[in-house]
Amino acid sequence: MSSYDVDLFVIGAGSGGTRAARIAAGHGAKVKVAEEYRVGGTCVIRGCVPKKLLVYAARFAHEFEDAAGFGWSLQGADFDWPTLIANKDKEIARLEGAYRANLGRSGVEIVPQRATVEGPNAVRLADGTRLTAKYILIATGGHPNLGPAIPGRDLAITSNEAFHLERLPTSIVIQGAGYIALEFACLFAGLGAKVTMVHRGDRLLRDFDDEVAERLAGEMRASGIDIVLGATIAEIAPEGEGRRVHLSDGREIVADQVMLAIGRQPNTAGLGLETAGVALGDNGAVKVDAGSRTNVPSIYAVGDVTDRLQLTPVAIREGHAFADTVFGNKPWTVDHSLVATAVFTEPEIGVVGLTEAQARAKGYRLDIYKTDFRPMKATLSGRATRVFMKLVVDQKTDRVLGAHLIGEASAEMIQIVGIVLAMGGTKADFDRTIALHPSAAEELVTMRTKDPSSDGPEPRLPEQSAESTPAI
Ligand SMILES: Cc1cc2nc3c(=O)[nH]c(=O)nc-3n(C[C@H](O)[C@H](O)[C@H](O)COP(=O)(O)OP(=O)(O)OC[C@H]3O[C@@H](n4cnc5c(N)ncnc54)[C@H](O)[C@@H]3O)c2cc1C
Repeated sequence: MSSYDVDLFVIGAGSGGTRAARIAAGHGAKVKVAEEYRVGGTCVIRGCVPKKLLVYAARFAHEFEDAAGFGWSLQGADFDWPTLIANKDKEIARLEGAYRANLGRSGVEIVPQRATVEGPNAVRLADGTRLTAKYILIATGGHPNLGPAIPGRDLAITSNEAFHLERLPTSIVIQGAGYIALEFACLFAGLGAKVTMVHRGDRLLRDFDDEVAERLAGEMRASGIDIVLGATIAEIAPEGEGRRVHLSDGREIVADQVMLAIGRQPNTAGLGLETAGVALGDNGAVKVDAGSRTNVPSIYAVGDVTDRLQLTPVAIREGHAFADTVFGNKPWTVDHSLVATAVFTEPEIGVVGLTEAQARAKGYRLDIYKTDFRPMKATLSGRATRVFMKLVVDQKTDRVLGAHLIGEASAEMIQIVGIVLAMGGTKADFDRTIALHPSAAEELVTMRTKDPSSDGPEPRLPEQSAESTPAI
């Protein structure tokens, strides 16, 4: 019999925490999970899921416009924001129920309150209860970064509030250039709001392929979104029912709402980690090894709180690997390379692997393949949109190191491309695959001509050169 109250105490019932709790319980561990807000965490309650539902809503606007070229005439297409939000909330409540039921079925006890760490093997609940645990898993996720304390900052919303606005803003200023800022910009614009994006840098989507980011900016501008680069929001003041936004470059914008989407910070403040001596990084993230273990052997951490890759499937994998390793006698670690990811903008982006710049920085000599075409649907709809694809190929091995797509269905395509890359797929593998026609995806297997940006052949060393090879 264990001398602890539980084998595992998980703090945070989000993507990583719930998976770890269920798998550990399945391996026979006695598990409790504390949740201070709603079971399911960011992804289910105020992240991926509600966001994608809002993206679907916004895309109808394009569909209705595109329909005319195909012979449809649609009248009276009215949009009602409260209906969308109410239906979204109903679906989120259903999912939360499913998460609760799954935990219950697995034998995990949900503790519906905040928990903090009180030593290597102890936690304190908000109601004062102290519990001991053989292992503690920190899975507390993150929260929106609010940036510097500019005047009027509390007049701005973050993604958290964006899901619960009482009415659709007629205009909105969004600061940020990461995927959350861009997705909200596109979805608000799709629903009819006038959107201005403000970003202190000189480009969108810093870690993405340059050409993909440029094309997105071009299409967003063409759809009426104003993108202001090299500036930040310096002050926000009330203006009637809305806000007056002062930018650092002297510009002023009056808008219904202001949203800050400038990154996310790990939830470690006030968590008591110092009582156990858990080491944190500069940004407050919990430092872990490849097996998600902290410097304190009984405390592990998974998901956004570790600031490795802030994505739901990554948090889930990390939680699963932790539980299998510690409670299932099946040790494994998560491979954080080659994680496919999407940006649900208009048009959407799908990427996996290295960008051209990242591959060059690692010393690869590259063959680059690109294609840029008008999607078939746009021929009749008349929409000014393109599909762009780029394959980054290691010249030496022919292995495809990265794929970067922007345009219709890129998110769906990139998941499958991810399998190919994980298997070590080469350009020759793509080439010998017969195209599926007519589709956008067929272009992935029909790129034959190297782009001029490819590196030339590797210079031969003198002793290997043809001249030095003795004639036979
Ligand atoms: C707007 C938005 C859109 C996103 N879209 C995508 C997407 O399309 N695809 C994708 O893969 N990822 C997306 N993400 C990221 C994704 O939501 C996160 O990577 C994922 O939720 C991380 O899981 P986690 O388990 O680390 O933390 P979370 O899911 O954040 O769970 C942490 C939980 O811990 C709870 N908690 C915190 N502190 C305590 C405490 N002391 N006591 C008790 N409970 C506590 C919190 O309430 C929360 O429920 C999005 C995020 C946002 C904000």
